[in-house]
Amino acid sequence: MSGGIDPARHYIGGQWLAEGALGDSLNPADDTVLGQYHAGSAALTDQAARLARETFFASSWAHAPRQRAQALFEFADRMEAVKDRIVDLIVAENGKLRAEAMGETLGAISEVRYYAGLARNVRGTMQETLPGQMSLFHREAAGVAGIIVPWNAPVTLLIRSLGPALAAGCTCVLKPAQQTALTHALILSCLDACPSLPKGVVNSVNENGVAVGQAMVASPDVDVISFTGSSATGKKIMAAAAQSLKRVGLELGGKAPAVVFADADLDQAVRELTHGALTMAGQICVAAARFLVQESILDSFQARIKAAFEAVRVGPGADPSSQMGSLIDRANVARVQGLIDRAADEGDMVLRGKALNTGAFLTPTLFRIDDVRSPLVQDELFGPIVSIETFADEAEAVAKANATVYGLAASVFTQDLARAMRMSRAIRAGTVWLNCHMRLSAEGETGGFGQSGLGRLHGPEGLHDFLETKHVYMEQGRI
Ligand code: NAD
Repeated sequence: MSGGIDPARHYIGGQWLAEGALGDSLNPADDTVLGQYHAGSAALTDQAARLARETFFASSWAHAPRQRAQALFEFADRMEAVKDRIVDLIVAENGKLRAEAMGETLGAISEVRYYAGLARNVRGTMQETLPGQMSLFHREAAGVAGIIVPWNAPVTLLIRSLGPALAAGCTCVLKPAQQTALTHALILSCLDACPSLPKGVVNSVNENGVAVGQAMVASPDVDVISFTGSSATGKKIMAAAAQSLKRVGLELGGKAPAVVFADADLDQAVRELTHGALTMAGQICVAAARFLVQESILDSFQARIKAAFEAVRVGPGADPSSQMGSLIDRANVARVQGLIDRAADEGDMVLRGKALNTGAFLTPTLFRIDDVRSPLVQDELFGPIVSIETFADEAEAVAKANATVYGLAASVFTQDLARAMRMSRAIRAGTVWLNCHMRLSAEGETGGFGQSGLGRLHGPEGLHDFLETKHVYMEQGRI
């Protein structure tokens, strides 16, 4: 496999480019410098987008579904061959647990194979509207896809957009988050080693600010933006994309409520919600961020979840005894500590998180709050900090679950199946888990209601962002 990994270089037209100032990639567990990356520019982004556009029209990629499937299978095999290196790099750059990084990597490999299969099944439809009047509805690749991803799951979230984009026949320009530039470069080296993938189909530019992402959204050579990140950035991207009426797919922030009814299996709820809230130290869009608990079981639920949170061993992701890794950096530890102070003022502290002496580590926080309008309830906090709120009955549970601008995910815990199904209909979220939290797969669409986003990724619908429908009409004459 060819280089480009340290310093992480840009990848345009199959060439590794060492342009732009060098930035450091840091290990949040111990503040060491892991390696470096070259930060790109708007000019380099324009070059990558132009090349992607030329490749889209000059190659047969958009019209060769079997080749696309083959290239995706090769990509999955290359990733599988270096999966331990990918996992080690995710742990080192991101701070998450090795088991979480392995789950992310194996899930991504599986998803590439899933879209390899779907690449051969992109079909249109046909309709004869009147005798001899034939309409063909083609599903065609949309053109050049610009894919912008965050640092929190740098492999899964890249593949969730790149898999369907390539399966649909698009060419691509990628932009990783600066915090995970080395992990991204290793994934690119896997793509570079795929003989069935024409050079120029996948291009990538690093950055250390916003210039590359902004240039990608502004570029006349990019047809579709597939963005995963915060709602605040998603709004900026949508506004900027309006200038060229570019299509956007937005997978944005969340504030997932977990609703626990009095008849729930509390052992199961506590087990699921400890994992659902503290996976990746709470830095995941679908993390359980609000525990909505029926009043009659507040004391017993609170005592159990507090004990479970207290027992979580916080430590380096590479240490097999750790049960929760670090935050992405010390700035985020300071940010969440500010939120903890605010929670202590506005609500009742149940368990106060503390920073460890080294690295970007913070133990979990739980706080009670009743004011649903508080920013602590309304805003995405993105860390190991969860509110506990109460409700009296089903109607209030629904009202509170739907009380934020977000609608990405939710979970419901009850042994009453009819109530579980009623709740799943009433909650306005792209995903609702029943008696569990955080089950994600290549097959299951994800996406948001409200300010959690536009469109869906994963599953067959993941292809839609990267396809156009073309109506071809012909008069055939009557027999
Ligand atoms: P972010 O919005 O700050 O950054 C995401 C990406 O956008 C990065 O690559 C960044 O460099 C780029 N970017 C920033 N400003 C830009 C601009 N003006 N134009 C173009 N690109 C720009 O988010 P983050 O802090 O890196 O990630 C955490 C956020 O992502 C959280 O809000 C989380 O909920 C969300 N997220 C959502 C999903 C989902 O599936 N819905 C998944 C993971 C993360």
